[in-house]
Amino acid sequence: MGKALIIGCGGVASVAIHKCCQNSDVFEHICIASRTLSKCDALKAKLQPNTATRITTAQVNADDVNELIALIRDYRPDVVLNLALPYQDLTIMEACLATKTHYVDTANYEPEDTAKFEYSWQWAYRERFEQAGITALLGSGFDPGVTGVFSAYALKHHFDEIHYLDILDCNGGDHGYPFATNFNPEINIREVSAKGSYWQDGKWIETEPMEIKRVYDFEGVGQKDMYLLHHEEIESLALNLPGIRRIRFFMTFGQSYLTHLKCLENVGMTSIQPIEYEGKQIVPLQFLRAVLPDPASLGPRTVGKTNIGCIFQGVKDGNPKRYYLYNVCDHQECYREVGSQAISYTTGVPAMIGAMMILQGKWNKPGVHNIEEFDPDPFMDALNRWGLPWKESFDPVLVD
Ligand code: NDP
Repeated sequence: MGKALIIGCGGVASVAIHKCCQNSDVFEHICIASRTLSKCDALKAKLQPNTATRITTAQVNADDVNELIALIRDYRPDVVLNLALPYQDLTIMEACLATKTHYVDTANYEPEDTAKFEYSWQWAYRERFEQAGITALLGSGFDPGVTGVFSAYALKHHFDEIHYLDILDCNGGDHGYPFATNFNPEINIREVSAKGSYWQDGKWIETEPMEIKRVYDFEGVGQKDMYLLHHEEIESLALNLPGIRRIRFFMTFGQSYLTHLKCLENVGMTSIQPIEYEGKQIVPLQFLRAVLPDPASLGPRTVGKTNIGCIFQGVKDGNPKRYYLYNVCDHQECYREVGSQAISYTTGVPAMIGAMMILQGKWNKPGVHNIEEFDPDPFMDALNRWGLPWKESFDPVLVD
């Protein structure tokens, strides 16, 4: 059916690429392009013997728009799936615009020198994408991603209006290290050490990092402490869910993770301000990244489950209603299937599905759109088929 150019070859990309190769009717050709060509070649060597998808590889610096344009002109993909880092979103969008190619990503743009993420930079491309007749699908991971699809599905099938939304992201996995992150350490630590915030009655309420704590009993995992974080999908869902009054995002963290993080913060290791070290400028957080375990290496040693989902409260036919949509995913099952732990898996599968929606023409809306702006039904079906089956409850315990 089509050709996809996949940029990046880390933890999430590896899962998405495995899944494209299981889905060769849709992904007839893929090109894996990243900064380190040897990683792309190694993945190709592993997957090509067992898939009908034709795989090619390329080296690309995704910070360089001209290099990207040259690669897209040469390979001529139908869609570009950006699985590099959030820093590269805008250069890749520029190259898609110049070549009139559809675009999909999993995380919103962040400038490298400011730990701040918001959609304004990417939404600024709306008109130009619309005029070029191409679709940009923003945030096709799990959160953002599936959480937006769940919201669109709840609104379409279960509510006249959703008033309260709590997104709960629980990782009950244990990798046996005192401290490691489940996806890119630099991006992860920037996210969790930032101030928290939630959206209520039309405005943002800011909190100190980890100030708001709740305990929740997750199916498949058990009771966990979870903390309120700022998260990017709150920004788009606040616009796209009419009548919404409050959106909060909670993520679980163990005490060991929080103690290590506090200590690293206190000694300055999570700072993104460059410092002088032996005559060279280094960024402490980037140095920390280099000494922490590579998230891609956690697969074999991580056991336990993730449980990520959304609790909705609102009205249907004049009656109050509550509804919980969630997915439970097992780290070891993911590892056996694609050689990765569940955090990469729960992001890589929806990334593949998002690109598939575009290639199949099921989601075709020129402009720049967040995932909840599309019809959720084909995506929900695909989650069941491609490894992330969802569950629902009509009487969930609420978060106070
Ligand atoms: P990794 O660090 O494992 O992989 C990033 C990849 O991008 C690496 O292969 C890296 O190359 C490549 N890369 C980085 N910079 C460039 C560049 N300038 N040019 C070309 N390639 C580059 O990260 P993850 O796989 O953990 O995360 C990937 C994305 O997924 C991130 O944006 C992250 O925020 C997002 N994410 C989204 C989630 C969601 O639910 N929505 C959840 C988890 C992650 P090299 O191998 O040379 O380092």
